[in-house]
Amino acid sequence: MKPLDYNTGKVPQWCPGCGNFGIWNSIKKAMAETELEPHKTALVSGIGCSGKMAAHVRCYVFHSLHGRTLPVATGIKLASPETTVLVNGGDGDGYGMGVGHLIHAMRRNIDVTYIVHHNKVYGLTTGQAAPTSPEGTKTKSTPFGVVDSQINPLIMGMANGATYVARGYTTDSDHLSDLIVGGIKHKGFALIDVLQPCVTFGGQYQYDYYNDRIKKMDEIPSTEDAIKLASDTDTYNIGVFSQYDRPAYNELHPEITTEIKAKDVTKLIKSFV
Ligand code: SF4
Repeated sequence: MKPLDYNTGKVPQWCPGCGNFGIWNSIKKAMAETELEPHKTALVSGIGCSGKMAAHVRCYVFHSLHGRTLPVATGIKLASPETTVLVNGGDGDGYGMGVGHLIHAMRRNIDVTYIVHHNKVYGLTTGQAAPTSPEGTKTKSTPFGVVDSQINPLIMGMANGATYVARGYTTDSDHLSDLIVGGIKHKGFALIDVLQPCVTFGGQYQYDYYNDRIKKMDEIPSTEDAIKLASDTDTYNIGVFSQYDRPAYNELHPEITTEIKAKDVTKLIKSFV
């Protein structure tokens, strides 16, 4: 299949110029590159502008609750380990509402690829501060500037057991697509943080801002260097920060999968109705 074959025929309703378009293209490119078959692929999306992705990628999709993508994705992977699971959401959804789920999914090494649209703001609700908004950022919800210290998703990922941690930039579509391919092929939890300007509510964090600060890494750095590079606030280094192997959760617990398969699912669902 080619990238366009993963279109659903629906036209995205994102603002013209939104960074979500680039991520959409890169996801489809990566799916084509890894020859993912739509009936063997699931995409779970969160709530927010990025959550609309569920309407625009041809495969099984689940548009979940705010911050609850990862429990759904975990369930899909355990019930159907042969399914490739992509998870897509915003920085407010993943690093704010859903951060508890994120940490547990990473430490369990759930075999999914989590793509986070990082625009430093809650875009769908018209521009409130997100956990990634730097101190001092003035938004609708912080008119005097953010006083909280911001979350660093890359360091959080490396410190909490994600076995593939990367950062991409939405306009560098081929590079981002390569990172997603890497995440799909990786057996374990892949966290891909994507710098994605919100052109309507993102304040100073627009394409010009990032274009002046983006630097591509040539290779995976040592752990010590990865922490330094991820902490750099003047330069936004992009590429893979960390990757290593350890068993994925479904590999450690084959009995869960076997039990789920052995159950009469229809009967189980009926018992809840
Ligand atoms: Fe994109 Fe921001 Fe518009 Fe949402 S509000 S579609 S994130 S530009």
